[in-house]
Amino acid sequence: MNAPQPLRHALLSNIGVDHGFGQRGLAELAGLRCPRQVHGVAVATAQQCAGQDPPPEADAVVSEQIGVRVAVVTADCLPILLAGDRGRVVAAVHAGWRGLAGGVIGACLAALRERLGKSEGVAAVIGPHIGICCYEVDEPVLGAFEERFSETLPRALRQTRPGHAQLDLGLLAREALRAEGVESDRIGLLEAACTACDAERFFSYRRDGPETGRLVHFIAAGARIAEG
Ligand SMILES: [Zn+2]
Repeated sequence: MNAPQPLRHALLSNIGVDHGFGQRGLAELAGLRCPRQVHGVAVATAQQCAGQDPPPEADAVVSEQIGVRVAVVTADCLPILLAGDRGRVVAAVHAGWRGLAGGVIGACLAALRERLGKSEGVAAVIGPHIGICCYEVDEPVLGAFEERFSETLPRALRQTRPGHAQLDLGLLAREALRAEGVESDRIGLLEAACTACDAERFFSYRRDGPETGRLVHFIAAGARIAEG
């Protein structure tokens, strides 16, 4: 059997950027630029992640360094990889419920757009994360979303027992990307990738507890690959 490979998505492959979402059993990658994730909304650069020890506290990292892989790690939270149409600017985001409610997606898009060419669009792909099937939350978590996601929240919920509901983080992330001006057809989602359901492919904090491993998701800026 072949060794597992990082999971790729056509929206990013078409731009020609090197990228991959993690699954279990991948060979360890060297030279990744990772921020120190704290479930916040700060955005670091690839340079900052390379130049500081420990790296800066941030949950998104943006890069214009060609061929340098920036990365985030997750075990149930949402990984999101983004690239400008020309592939010269990329970003990786770690968004748990705190980051999502706090606006980490908007913060990352702002940092990305500062670096994009005029009228350059963005593609964004949401990677493996805990699905609505396995993600029951309580009122304090739901309350955190009410301000930023008041319109979307009812669609992202499935009521369970009193004071609890299952929550679709992927749907909220999609809506956040749309609200920030990413076109619907440029937002991708890996299919059937619930980290808690699929123990063979993914680590899951909910399923396995704090000792579980972490999935590594990376992307690197690059020139568009010549085709044909
Ligand atoms: Zn599930």
